[in-house]
Amino acid sequence: MESIYNFTLETLTQHLQTQDCPHPKTAAIRIFHHLYRERKVGPLTEGQISKKAINYLAKSTSFDLAKTISVQESKDFTVKFLIEFCDGERVETVLIPFPGRYAVCISTQVGCAMRCSFCFTGTQGLKRHLTSGEILTQYLIAWEWLECYRPRKAAQPKIVLMGQGEPLHNFEEVKKALLIFVSEQGMQLGTRRITLSTAGYLPGLKRFGELPLINIALSLHSPFNSIRSQIIPLNKSYPLEDILATIDSIPFKGNRAINFEYVLIDGLNNREEDARELAKILLGKKGIINLIPFNGFPGAVYERPSEERMAAFQGILSSLGIHATIRTTKGSDIFAACGQLKHLLEGS
Ligand code: SF4
Repeated sequence: MESIYNFTLETLTQHLQTQDCPHPKTAAIRIFHHLYRERKVGPLTEGQISKKAINYLAKSTSFDLAKTISVQESKDFTVKFLIEFCDGERVETVLIPFPGRYAVCISTQVGCAMRCSFCFTGTQGLKRHLTSGEILTQYLIAWEWLECYRPRKAAQPKIVLMGQGEPLHNFEEVKKALLIFVSEQGMQLGTRRITLSTAGYLPGLKRFGELPLINIALSLHSPFNSIRSQIIPLNKSYPLEDILATIDSIPFKGNRAINFEYVLIDGLNNREEDARELAKILLGKKGIINLIPFNGFPGAVYERPSEERMAAFQGILSSLGIHATIRTTKGSDIFAACGQLKHLLEGS
């Protein structure tokens, strides 16, 4: 059975129309309000939509949310969920604390095909894409938990598509989920509250204009193609100059923010020449630059730089007119920090 969370308003209307359910558009809107505004789990009852629609949905669709297998809480209030879908595949979703409200870091694939060498998920390879419903339900599960256990911080969380997977490699399903996140009849989340992170998957990046006006975070990680290809093998197919030219062509409408992410790996991309070249390619660009200390994982070959070396890197950028912030690591004690997501499979 198809999950109800996989439907957009249009496809749900069409789904009801195929069986001549009365007032299909109105019924689809009621179902959307029930699922996304009231955040109720389970089917609607008579009085909310017609009996014919209820019976048809009971035969053709599932209203089940994914299963929460475990919840781990970090000492810094980061929360990591292990979520299982109906075929038994699992992903991790993380609630990241910020002053005033949380952000939900959502996965878009089971595993990831990009195999970035600083990332635990990359060691897993791609198992499958997530459906739009599986992307949405991670958010619903995390928000529900927040309301139960941290009610004072339960304002509608922001979204970062930075969990397991390369979101632009699963373009159609991510696009469908985003449309529901921002839609008037769906979750009504402001586009400025959503950030999509990409390693630079060019075919998807070229279609970025098809998405709502969300923020983008590009994983840069080196200004040199030779080093960037070691960190992000995808760079061999889509080199940095093509990525940056495509990013430059994305319109800044609606105050969209562009973030450049740079994971600092000791001895590999944190030398003086790296900082100088990075400043050269970023000078004049509008984006925010985040320096992210490398987070270790079992089997990792890289080291995190010392605080002094990170500050020195930041200082060189600053002296060349580039303002960059060093991101505070959150959730590393529960393996929920950047690059650490991968549920430990048997034998892995
Ligand atoms: S960093 Fe992102 S794109 Fe790269 S392997 Fe990890 S999940 Fe995939």
